[in-house]
Amino acid sequence: MGGKGAAALRRIGAILLILSAALAAPCAVVAGETGLDPVRLQLKWRHQFQFAGYYAAIAKGYYASAGLRVELIEATDEEEPARVVLRGAAEYGIATSDLVLFRSQGDKVVALVAIFQHSPLVLIVPRRSGIEHLHELDGRRVMIEHHAAELLAYIRQEGIRLERLRMLPHNFDVKSLVAGEVDAISAYSTDEPFLLQQAGLEFHAFSPRSGGIDFYGDTLFTTEAEVRRNPRRVAAFVDATLKGWSYALDHPQEIVDLILSRYSQRHSRAHLLFEAERTQRLIRHELVELGYMNPGRWRHIAETYAELKMMPAGFSLDGFLWRPVERIDLTKFQVAIAASVAVALVIALLTLRFYRLNVNLNRQIAQREALQAELRRLADVDVLTGISSRRHFLEQFEQEIERGRRYDRPLAVLMLDIDRFKSVNDSYGHAAGDEVLRRVCAAIRAELRQSDHFGRLGGEEFGVLLPETARAGAVLTAERLRQTVQALEIVFEGQAVELTISVGATQVGSEDDDSSALARADHALYAAKQGGRNCIMWQDEPGKSGAVAEA
Ligand code: GH3
Ligand code: MG
Ligand code: MG
Repeated sequence: MGGKGAAALRRIGAILLILSAALAAPCAVVAGETGLDPVRLQLKWRHQFQFAGYYAAIAKGYYASAGLRVELIEATDEEEPARVVLRGAAEYGIATSDLVLFRSQGDKVVALVAIFQHSPLVLIVPRRSGIEHLHELDGRRVMIEHHAAELLAYIRQEGIRLERLRMLPHNFDVKSLVAGEVDAISAYSTDEPFLLQQAGLEFHAFSPRSGGIDFYGDTLFTTEAEVRRNPRRVAAFVDATLKGWSYALDHPQEIVDLILSRYSQRHSRAHLLFEAERTQRLIRHELVELGYMNPGRWRHIAETYAELKMMPAGFSLDGFLWRPVERIDLTKFQVAIAASVAVALVIALLTLRFYRLNVNLNRQIAQREALQAELRRLADVDVLTGISSRRHFLEQFEQEIERGRRYDRPLAVLMLDIDRFKSVNDSYGHAAGDEVLRRVCAAIRAELRQSDHFGRLGGEEFGVLLPETARAGAVLTAERLRQTVQALEIVFEGQAVELTISVGATQVGSEDDDSSALARADHALYAAKQGGRNCIMWQDEPGKSGAVAEA
């Protein structure tokens, strides 16, 4: 791979890897406090252990590492958390199961996770009132808080018409109960019982659960708009919240200290620890996965409300329950995309590398083949004269013998030698001798047919193959060659050089191979030299006369 190209590829690779890693990273990892996304969480009440998980998520940095800066807003008596979130004053809120009532009224709230698997709402009645059963509340003074729909459902289910109760505005002060100003109050099993115990008041706590109404307690919620616009923020917020709750439930004393030092001293340490212990019983995280919501249970809650005419029957819960599976799928999807990008990148890089290797290899193979072809060509050609080399001439000879035999065609061979050539070298030098060799060869080549073969057998000795040629034709050709050479006008140092050749000729017989035929032609050439040179001698095949005769 080329240096520059490889460096560029490596850079692109690094960028893509960073991109894929960023895709795979948790939804909203933001470095530093300044880049954090501000969100508001509307609590359902004032600061106390009921919100331990959120304090823990803030203190332990779970929200921050999810990219969020969470502001906790205490509840007021005036407005319910769902209303606050719906009018946009907070992105998230904490509600009871009555959240589904808002939904049934057309408010697009979405339940995210149930923090309290069971509701803490109870109705507290002092023992001294003599009330042993709920239906004895008929005509009594009762304080029931706003969100306590399930308590009303429970009371109605027990056969009491709500109009029969003497409802007083809730003042959230147990002293009213202690002082006997009221006969029953709605309360949290996690909270007011502590104060009543301290005040020495004996009481009954009626729980809707004993009437089979087992609603979720604190449930984290948001709006459909938030889920649609910021799905990653929702998932990040839920994740960090559940982490916070997990920590808080494992470290209740630490969170109690945190509440006292940072949030509120409204409750004593002992009170908060009581609340922590009661909270554990309602969250039941040793039995149920933190945050778990069962759609069937929500359906049951909706049906209970419907039976009590608090919402329409058969109301669809579509879109009401947030599906964390989407969040998991999203993460898996991101990881899958990141992995695919990385794998594709590696494959692309490998493919490119192999492609370049392949191109190089092909180029080398082509170069080697060209070199081999050139070597073959050089081996086939005599460098000085440009006619066939001895090796190539002998190859062609074998092929012609084969062909002549297959088609039963005649083949003649001539062996030529320049007469007294040595004297040219001696008189005019070796270069002049070379020049003579080139001129003689060119002249002879010009006299031959395309199908004839002409090769240098050595020194100034040559072979001529004449396919389709019998004795008469071969002798004629030899004679023409002899005359051609003799007619050459060659002048060195102002002196004309007399050149002649002697020729030995023979027919290639059916028993011949190249060497036996050449040996016979050589024998005839020797006879020509003996016979005075500048002549042609013919020798028949052994089967015939076998004798050498002047042609
Ligand atoms: P003859 O008539 O008996 O053939 O006499 P000759 O002088 O030709 O004798 P011979 O064939 O034995 O000698 C060939 C000479 O050709 C010997 C050598 O110096 C010369 N010769 C062979 N090859 C080359 C060549 O490539 N270039 C040159 N200039 N001379 C060559
Ligand atoms: Mg010679
Ligand atoms: Mg010779």
